[in-house]
Formats: sequence, structure tokens, C-alpha cells
Amino acid sequence: MVAAAYQAFYQQSLDQPDAFWREQAALVDWQQPFEQVCDFSRPPFARWFVGGRTNLCHNAVDRHASQRPDAAALIWVSTETGQKRVYSFAQLQREVETLAAILRAQGVQQGDRVQIYMPMIPEAAFAMLACARIGAIHSVVFGGFASHALASRIDDATPRLIVSADAGSRGGKVVPYKPLLDEAIQLAQHKPEKVLMVDRGLAPFERVAGRDLDYAALRQAHGGERVDCVWLESSTPSYTLYTSGTTGKPKGVQRDVGGYCVALAASMKHIFGGHAGETFFSTSDIGWVVGHSYIIYGPLIAGMATLMYEGLPVLSGRGASAEPDAGIWWQLVEKYKVTVMFSAPTAIRVLKKHDAAFLTRHDLSSLRTLFLAGEPLDEPTARWIAEGLNKPILDNYWQTETGWPILTLARGVADDSPKFGSPGVPMYGYRVKLLDEATGEELHGAHQKGLLAIEGPLPPGCMQTVWRDDERFVRTYWNGIPGKQVYSTFDWAMRDEDGFYFILGRSDDVINVAGHRLGTREIEECISGHPAVAEVAVVGVADALKGQVALAFAVLRDPARAATPEQAQALEGEILKKVDAELGAVARPARVRLVTALPKTRSGKLLRRALQAVSEGRDPGDLSTIEDPSALEQIRAALGRT
Ligand code: ATP
Ligand code: MG
Repeated sequence: MVAAAYQAFYQQSLDQPDAFWREQAALVDWQQPFEQVCDFSRPPFARWFVGGRTNLCHNAVDRHASQRPDAAALIWVSTETGQKRVYSFAQLQREVETLAAILRAQGVQQGDRVQIYMPMIPEAAFAMLACARIGAIHSVVFGGFASHALASRIDDATPRLIVSADAGSRGGKVVPYKPLLDEAIQLAQHKPEKVLMVDRGLAPFERVAGRDLDYAALRQAHGGERVDCVWLESSTPSYTLYTSGTTGKPKGVQRDVGGYCVALAASMKHIFGGHAGETFFSTSDIGWVVGHSYIIYGPLIAGMATLMYEGLPVLSGRGASAEPDAGIWWQLVEKYKVTVMFSAPTAIRVLKKHDAAFLTRHDLSSLRTLFLAGEPLDEPTARWIAEGLNKPILDNYWQTETGWPILTLARGVADDSPKFGSPGVPMYGYRVKLLDEATGEELHGAHQKGLLAIEGPLPPGCMQTVWRDDERFVRTYWNGIPGKQVYSTFDWAMRDEDGFYFILGRSDDVINVAGHRLGTREIEECISGHPAVAEVAVVGVADALKGQVALAFAVLRDPARAATPEQAQALEGEILKKVDAELGAVARPARVRLVTALPKTRSGKLLRRALQAVSEGRDPGDLSTIEDPSALEQIRAALGRT
């Protein structure tokens, strides 16, 4: 059970939403007060803080710059280029105003889209904040996405201008962006008028005369110009962002200004427990929703310094004999006295392949909590990092669509302890339900499995609609359940007797074996508990006899464990026995295939649909979001083995 204090807080958010959100809204500045807390007269569309005028950039930058101008706002560290820069709030404001002046001078107006295709450099943050400042709608596309993925996003967002850079860098390898961008613009139907190029000096590039602009020159020309924040009605769109594309065609999530600002401010206080003057470190990328909410806007709105890191979690050793350094993040925590950190299970699994001693080489006394989100956090990984750091690890479950956590523990409200395997309980404002997918009936009992759904209105900060496609918004998210209009997360979950939720996988990934419904996550959790296993993916594949069978693909911590076919076979036997013992024979995968990599999206999520397609001998379809296509080749090869 969570503490009574949180239960009361949660209940108030549902029973008296107006009073509740009015109080949260006081965490941000309003140029003009709102007239109505929530307008839900046209469900499922919700408008929050109707009539109020505010600005995300004002709340993230200006209000702190006027009170604590010299406090650190943006700390940038690149282990790729060996650079470091620290901007105070006052300096950040100047950079953002300069970039806003550049955008204005190029004709960018309120409501215009600006696409941002950038590596993790400060100019990317300036660009986002400059758009927010003048009411231009930013649309960040993960840097280094292939040109056709970028082209489809250009056509969807139809930007007037694109901000980009010559190159990103990964593990010391320069990834030129400009050729990808040029090709994407060629492929796209829509042609942006201008491309603003930040030249890092990493990769020489060609300029298109009349279209391509040089940031450094324009920064000189416009430096010192003042550009006031434009006060925007709360429901004005602030940005669009595409979902990760794990399950299919990415959806263009559109968010507002006021609701998002309030939601982030409230989450920083009640969920993340971050305070002005401290440092927040999120290891995500600006291309993802975590980067929007918790690299850029959330920490800054709270008056914290945000640490922006360009680099890998594990640095390869310099010199032939040098060991890789898996301690870089903890070194940064020590150096910048990080108090709150945010990462992803997939990143922790990367660290887990290295010595746990890396976790304790640095002074981590400043760090209070590590939050992890994006994928199921399996218990062995959670234990490894919790014990290694000796800090509370908080799983949090949410989506690009919601912008901030749906399930976790609001430790700013009550000091609840996490349970391994569970992200926690519904956050304030979310009317979370478990529903029977077939009948739409609500499941009230403990340990019943169903679709995780949210009753409208979605709380502030959540998506307003699908960009330019209200119909798709309603059809995709709100029409899936017979007989009622509820928001579907497309995730499959259960709740225990204490009200803690457990995510069991995507609803599409539920396997039907001889009439039994199993979440792939349950089988993965069990297999990942085997000491030899570093990572595992389980998919359901069609089977003539049983309907579907589970297939497992495992990456070993030490590949030498299965050097010979006999060893591999013995290990497979051990793993299958473990599944039999813990979940029963129905859950037993037909095979456990040993591989050295799993196909993932650029954000590190398992590409289950591709894995499943290849396992069934089908075409994996759109692979524009895949990180490493060779991982699929390996899967094909592994499937071919006996
Ligand atoms: P797409 O919607 O384009 O297929 P995606 O769902 O991966 O991609 P995101 O919005 O980045 O796009 O991811 C949200 C999803 O990630 C959730 O719906 C859930 O499946 C998974 N997820 C996020 N956090 C957690 C968590 N803490 N535990 C389990 N699953 C999580
Ligand atoms: Mg999704």
C-alpha cells in the first residue's frame, strides 16, 4: 500500500481536479490568468487552463535569469569532442534570444514549424527554447535518423526552417548529418525555405546557396538583440514529436503550452523531487520525449541546472591495453553534484556488462534518486543497479503521448518504497483503469491482467491530438474498447493487492499459447534472472498446433559460456527448466536462441515487431528506426541453426 498522504493527494486530483490543478498551476508564471481549469466539452479533446497566457521559455529561462542570473542552467559535456561548456541562466537567455532573433529575421512566425535535426549540443537546446519563446512549433527529429525517416517527418511537420549541424559523433566516429539532411529534403515533398547550419568543424559540408545559413555568422550579426517572450494562450501548440516507432508508423504527438508547463513543474516537485540550484542529469537524447521533458523543459522550469551529455555510457579505453570506462556517468554525477538522475533500463543493461566496481569509484553522495523509464525494468537489472549504487531506483512508466509519468511513486508527496518489477501506482490526474480487451469491462481484482487504459480527460501535459489529424487521434487512441471512450496505452498490465501495477508487455505482444494468454515480459523477466543472461527478447510466433509459441533470443553476459554447441544446448536446457519451474510449461519458449545483439530502435528499445516478423519468415517492414540492421541478420542466422 502506498502512504495515506499520497492516496489523499491522488484522490483529490480525481475528485476536485479544478482545485488540484489550480494549485499546481501556481508553480508557473502566467502573464494572464486562466478562466477555466479544464474544458472537456468536446471529448476526448481536453483544453487546460483556458484563456491563460504563458510561455515555456519564460518559465524555463527568463524568470530564473531575473532572479538567479549567475546560477548554472545548462551544463554541456561531450566525451565525443572533449568539450565542456556551462551556461548560466543569464547566458542561456542571451543565446536563446539571439537564436530567436535569427529565426525571426528569417521570417519564422508564431505557429510556423521549425524542425530540429541536431546532435546533443547546446545549440539544440537554444533552438528548442527559441521556438518556445516566439511561439514557433518545434519538431525535433533524432539526430542521425536515416534520410527517409527524416523526409517523412519533414512532410508531416512542413517546417519553414530546419536547424541542423554538420555532424554528430558516436563512440568517436563522426556521423555527418548534412548529406542525410540534403537527401531527406530531396526526398520530401515539402521544401523548407531555410536551413540553419551549426558548423562544429567535424565534417565538411556543401551549402545550398540561398537556402543554407551559417549560425556562427548570424549569431554575430544578431548577438545582443532582445526578443521578448510571446505570451501564448495555454492551448497553443508548443511542439510536435514522433513516437519511437517501436510498433509501427510513428505518430506525431502535439502538445500545448500551459498544460505542459504546469505538468512538468508539478512533476519536478512531486515525482522527481528536484530543487532550484541543484543539477538534474538525464542520459536521454533531445530526439525523445524524455529529452524534451527532462533534459530541456522540466529541470529548467524547476530552476535546476540540466546536464546535457554527448557521448556513450561506456567509453572505450584509450591506448591498446586500456580498459573501457563504464564510470563516466558517475564521474559526472560527482563533478556536477547531480541530485536527480534519469536514464533507461537499456542503458543500465549496457553498464551491467561491466564491472560493478565502476559504480562505486566516485563520490555519489549528492545523488538522491535514479529514475529509469522507457522499457520494462527487469528485476535483476533493478537489483544490480540498486545494490551497486546504494540509491533508490525508481521505475517510471509513461509514453511520448503523455509527456510525464503515468505510473511511478510520487516521493515528493510521500516516502513510499518501490517494489521490484513494478513502476508503482497511478500518478495524480491519471484515471488509470485495467480493462478486459474483449468486453471493455473494468477489472477490479488483484492479479487480473488487462489493457492499461486512462479515462478522459487526460491530465495536463498529455498530447492534445495527433498533429493535423484529430480523426487519427480519436481512432487510434480512444476507439479501441467496445462501449466506451477511453484512452488506450496499448500496454498490458496487472495490479497487485497493494495497488501496484506491473507492465506485462505491449498488448500486441501478448502470446496466446494453447488458450493461455501470456505477456512476453513475464517470460523475459524469468529468463533474464538466469545469471548467464545479459539481455533477452521473447516474441510469439505462429504455430500450426498451438496457435502461437514463444521464441526467446538471449544475449549472454559472457559469450564464452556457450562456446561449443554442447555448452549452448546445456544452457538452453537450464533456461527452459527455469521457465518451467517459475511460470509453468505453457510459458516455455520453443527455443532459446543465443545471439550477441538484439534489434533495437535508436532509443534502445527492442524492435519486437521486426524480431517477430523475421522469426515467422516475414518481411520486417519499415526499419527506418532500427539502430543496427546487422542484429537482424544475426537473428536470421540463429534461426537457421538447429
Ligand atoms: P510507438 O508508439 O511508435 O510504437 P513506443 O511506444 O516505443 O513507439 P514511446 O512513447 O517512446 O514509443 O514508448 C512508450 C512505451 O514504452 C510504453 O507504451 C511502454 O510500452 C514502454 N514503456 C515505457 N516506460 C516503461 C516502463 N517503465 N516499464 C515498461 N514499459 C515501459
Ligand atoms: Mg507507443
